[in-house]
Amino acid sequence: MSHGLVVVGSGPAGVSAAQAYSDAGGPGPVTILTADEHPPYQRPPLSKDVLRGELAPEPVAIDGADPELAGITVELRTRVNRIDPDARVVHAGGREIPYAALVLASGATPTPLPTAEPDADVHLLRSLADAERLVEAASHAHSAVVIGSGFIGCEAAVSLARRGIDVTVVTTEQAPQVARLGDRASQLLTDWLAEEGVALVTGGEVTSVRAPREVHLSDGTTRSPDLVLAALGVAPSTDYLAGTGISTHEGRVVVDDRLRTSVDGVWAAGDVTRAHNAAAGRPLHVEHWGDALTMGEIAGRNAAGADESWTAVPGFWSEIGDRTLKHVAWGDGFDEVRVVERPGGLTVWYAQDGVVVGALTYEADDDYKRAEQLVTEGASIDEV
Ligand SMILES: Cc1cc2nc3c(=O)[nH]c(=O)nc-3n(C[C@H](O)[C@H](O)[C@H](O)COP(=O)(O)OP(=O)(O)OC[C@H]3O[C@@H](n4cnc5c(N)ncnc54)[C@H](O)[C@@H]3O)c2cc1C
Repeated sequence: MSHGLVVVGSGPAGVSAAQAYSDAGGPGPVTILTADEHPPYQRPPLSKDVLRGELAPEPVAIDGADPELAGITVELRTRVNRIDPDARVVHAGGREIPYAALVLASGATPTPLPTAEPDADVHLLRSLADAERLVEAASHAHSAVVIGSGFIGCEAAVSLARRGIDVTVVTTEQAPQVARLGDRASQLLTDWLAEEGVALVTGGEVTSVRAPREVHLSDGTTRSPDLVLAALGVAPSTDYLAGTGISTHEGRVVVDDRLRTSVDGVWAAGDVTRAHNAAAGRPLHVEHWGDALTMGEIAGRNAAGADESWTAVPGFWSEIGDRTLKHVAWGDGFDEVRVVERPGGLTVWYAQDGVVVGALTYEADDDYKRAEQLVTEGASIDEV
């Protein structure tokens, strides 16, 4: 049999790459090799419906993709240890798997709390298996400390609070995501945490977690909750790329706007990449579900012979309890913020050098729809 497409990873980027390659009639068999123990599933519900206890921690299929129907082989519990681009071979589980085209979609891994003792009981949340353990712990917890005030931290804190758990968020930031989103959006997050009864400790560092769950803070206080979750962000999963000659930047796989790596026959998509966005005219690093799906589709079709470019403005939605924030932005900074308040909602516009580079909306879908266009066009901030 001729060699076909091999994909590393069964997240949205990997699954959509495999599906798009197959739909485009790419030659040879299509195989996804994944370290995950579950068939491909959606991650966003894990910190929301699943952690609130409204959805069972079971795989929910990724929209728009049905690997089985498309004849795609998904090999679970198969971690790729090494690739050899000269021989066009992937090493996984003691086997050598040949490929004609390879898509790297290995995503990212949550950053562990560096100051926790090795045997401390600190949860991380990335996979369905992580969510199963977290939900089990939450089911008999009365108190929790969530470390980190990024979107996963805020979503998880509110979901835990909705189960009746007494939750404290501890963050080194002066206010949740104030540097990333500005004062007004940060205030919104702060208000929502307060409304949900979540206590917030800002400017506070966790100096250690002693086993099992004794959390020591830089202000000298100690907490001993029933559950500790560290939500400190993620690092790209690229340990298997050492020695391949594939270019990386700060650990991420560098790809052009066609999502080609520096090595022939190898594409990459999703959280693992630093990808050139043709509309932005510069490389971006994006960690969003929808963008991983889009990038995977482009990588898959290009691996099958197309010549498509990544141009979309990155975006995501975050659900904090039952409030939905929508964000669309290049995501690499701003020097001006304009806030438009409306009854029951708002839009925060972001600009750099007078040009619109993003927007965050709450209950303002008309602005959200307009924002993508204004960002793509590089419209003046005065147009908003
Ligand atoms: C709890 C949670 C909630 C989220 N909510 C949102 C949201 O509301 N909106 C949003 O836009 N984004 C959200 N995200 C982020 C979003 O899930 C990611 O951006 C997205 O999953 C990235 O997709 P990916 O395919 O690039 O990587 P991943 O989804 O991380 O998939 C990577 C895959 O590669 C596998 N893998 C890694 N290393 C290897 C290896 N060496 N060999 C084989 N397989 C390997 C992994 O097992 C996994 O299957 C959330 C993330 C989490 C964890």
